[in-house]
Amino acid sequence: MTKKENFFSSKEEIQIINAIKAAENMTSGEIRVHISEKADKDSMVATQKIFHELRMFNTRERNGVLIHLSISSKSFSIFGDEGINKVVGQEFWDSTKDIMQNHFCKGDLTGGICEGINSVGEKLRDFFPYKKDDIDELPNEVSYD
Ligand code: CA
Ligand code: CA
Repeated sequence: MTKKENFFSSKEEIQIINAIKAAENMTSGEIRVHISEKADKDSMVATQKIFHELRMFNTRERNGVLIHLSISSKSFSIFGDEGINKVVGQEFWDSTKDIMQNHFCKGDLTGGICEGINSVGEKLRDFFPYKKDDIDELPNEVSYD
């Protein structure tokens, strides 16, 4: 198990959680971040599996997005639920990954994750605007395995 205190500093973790909160203030969409220590053969398959394990399909509009980093494989994927995939194209996910990759290349893991969250939030806002009666359907936290 990767203990969160070994991975992000508490300041970094707060930065990520604040980015999730800020994004979710723009949209009804729900964003989570998951860090895996183990290597994945196929990053996207692993990401979808975690999406299901975290029960991220439990949103009314099926608009959950999981940002998943696999530390050993030095890879990451973003998976959006069917509500989102109906309205955004692959190029959106690719451009968001590019934004994140630019930060990761400079060793700025936290900044890359936050920029990714921000990019997803802005895109989701166009299709799933924040409503006054919004509820936080998925916890705003970083999870680990
Ligand atoms: Ca919400
Ligand atoms: Ca949330």
